[in-house]
Amino acid sequence: MNPPDGIPQDADLHATLNAILRNAIEALGGSAGVVATWDEEEHRFVASDSYGLDDKALEQLYPLLNEAIPDLALSSRSFNVLSALLEPPLPKSAQGQTLDPIVALPLQVGRRSVGLIYVLRPRGAASFSGNEQSALNAFAHQAAVALDNARLIHDLLNEKKKIESMLEGSAEGIMSIDSRRRIVGFNAAMEKMTGHRRDKVIGQPCYQVLHFRDWHGISICNSTRCPMVTRPNGESSTCELQGRIQSVDGQDIEVAMVYSVTRSRATGRAHGAVMNVRDIRRLREVENLRSAFLSMLGHELQTPLAIIKGYTNTLARSDAKWNKKTLREGLQVIEEECDRLSKLVNRLLLASRIESRTVTLKKEPIQLSIMADKVVRRLESVTGIHTFEVDFPADFPEVHADPDRIEEVLTNLVDNAIKYSPKGGKIAVTGRVKGDSVEVTVADEGIGIPRRELERVFERFHRGENGQVQKVRGMGLGLFICKSIVEAHGGKIDVTSEVGKGSKFRLTLPLSKER
Ligand code: ADP
Repeated sequence: MNPPDGIPQDADLHATLNAILRNAIEALGGSAGVVATWDEEEHRFVASDSYGLDDKALEQLYPLLNEAIPDLALSSRSFNVLSALLEPPLPKSAQGQTLDPIVALPLQVGRRSVGLIYVLRPRGAASFSGNEQSALNAFAHQAAVALDNARLIHDLLNEKKKIESMLEGSAEGIMSIDSRRRIVGFNAAMEKMTGHRRDKVIGQPCYQVLHFRDWHGISICNSTRCPMVTRPNGESSTCELQGRIQSVDGQDIEVAMVYSVTRSRATGRAHGAVMNVRDIRRLREVENLRSAFLSMLGHELQTPLAIIKGYTNTLARSDAKWNKKTLREGLQVIEEECDRLSKLVNRLLLASRIESRTVTLKKEPIQLSIMADKVVRRLESVTGIHTFEVDFPADFPEVHADPDRIEEVLTNLVDNAIKYSPKGGKIAVTGRVKGDSVEVTVADEGIGIPRRELERVFERFHRGENGQVQKVRGMGLGLFICKSIVEAHGGKIDVTSEVGKGSKFRLTLPLSKER
């Protein structure tokens, strides 16, 4: 008898088990059978495939397979006829044949048990000759190797799937390339970050997709800088790079990239690379904000301090005798600069309290028309080139709000209208009722705000890029504070503007039910 062939060596574990079982049944002249494989986790043999047995017969057989037979079958390293030991009697086959005896074939690779095959033969089947027994042992060996391989491949594929799903689920962009720098992997985070679709970029050269450049705009993908090209043989394999890549619609994305060249163990030659790509736009924004803040703070502190120092030095000179008027004027300047400093510190404190959400509102009914009038009267004294108009309907309702905070908002808006209208012009504060809210607008005829900056004027530390804005002292905190206060009241603030013609800030506050 020749050892049966046709056992697939492929990756499909189930197909392999099935082929082994069918071949074994045929070789042993059986009519039914079960193949059990060794389960590492459960530390026992588990029935993995069966032939010729219905569910009921299998159920009857399982306890025997799991407990009684394996020890016995494995005690001898060759096949065994075990019928005599079975108690209760064997189940019938699916065709109704009375089955007896069982032949057990242990499947071993070296000293390791990988499985067991049980073939059930019809009662009275002929016994095996010596030649047939050694052929069966040879078959068992071949089957064991095939099963072991199929299991290894199965486990490898499972591991591969696990790794693939980990990469896919990673919040960080992961891309891999082959030795010719063609993209072979592009995870979901990469798709989200760049807008490129995986099916469109796989197979494309990475330098044509990402256009990676350093902060000066110089390409990192060229032959003198790409780590895949510059480190082809065995050198340090991981490096960190920062710069900009391009999204599918041509937008720049600021990224930090860990670039790991993968190498052949035998030759040390690069056969690909894996890149971990992190979007650092937010981080860079925070860094820019921090340095803008520090330079603004330095500037804002330096000017009043220099003025105070200058005046105190002058007034304190022992060789000079100042008349009362000069003395008063000098002290007044010092007082004004101290006020400016204290206002600056208060604003910074308020902004930081807004951020940490520790600002509490002390609401009460307020008359916005009276408040607007008061703010305008106070500020018109600081300018001689602007005209002011305050226009509220007579029946303008009271609003339930924190008077100090809302006065701060109006002061900021009117102050800005003055600051950013260097040629003067009219500043109008207008109120009206709109549905269940009130609207207050502050309009000027000043320099206006470019369209691209409109969205950003309410951001912390944002200051206009325009030279005229830079001439005016400021920290870029006023509108951020206004927005936070108005929103804390459940309201909104926005702006419309035209460069050279003027700006109109509009704040809306809800009319409370407590009216
Ligand atoms: P600051 O006035 O200290 O710069 P703000 O937060 O009050 O800070 O304003 C932010 C920016 O918005 C200003 O730098 C300026 O560019 C712009 N801006 C605010 N108000 C006006 C206005 N009325 N007209 C023109 N630009 C304005």
